[in-house]
Amino acid sequence: MHSVEEPRAAPRPGLGEACWRGLRGLCPSCGKGRLFARYLKQAAACPACHEPLGHLRSDDAAPWLTILVAGHIAVPVILAVERYAQWPAWLAMTVWPLFAVALALVVLPRAKGLLLSVIWATRGPGSERD
Ligand SMILES: [Zn+2]
Repeated sequence: MHSVEEPRAAPRPGLGEACWRGLRGLCPSCGKGRLFARYLKQAAACPACHEPLGHLRSDDAAPWLTILVAGHIAVPVILAVERYAQWPAWLAMTVWPLFAVALALVVLPRAKGLLLSVIWATRGPGSERD
């Protein structure tokens, strides 16, 4: 697969480094190219190091992790604000759902990037490769 003129590949990063790269939406292999071509659609291959990425599948793990993380952020914030602010019901019923949706949209690609990087780094079963 590797052509002769390609530079020698950098050593494969460890799980922690790959996860940190994936969390930031970067290629788990080189940390330079973007992991995602669109919001949640990963690139077929890294634009920088050409590492194949399109075959990685995290399935519903990313939404699951997003609910876990966003819930643990949203609930304390909502409870803290509701304790001191006497918001009318219409305001709370408008602000909190929008806050929860916005938070989920921020967390979701990071969760997917993290999980794809774990699959990539561990050569997990989601990788559909050896
Ligand atoms: Zn790369």
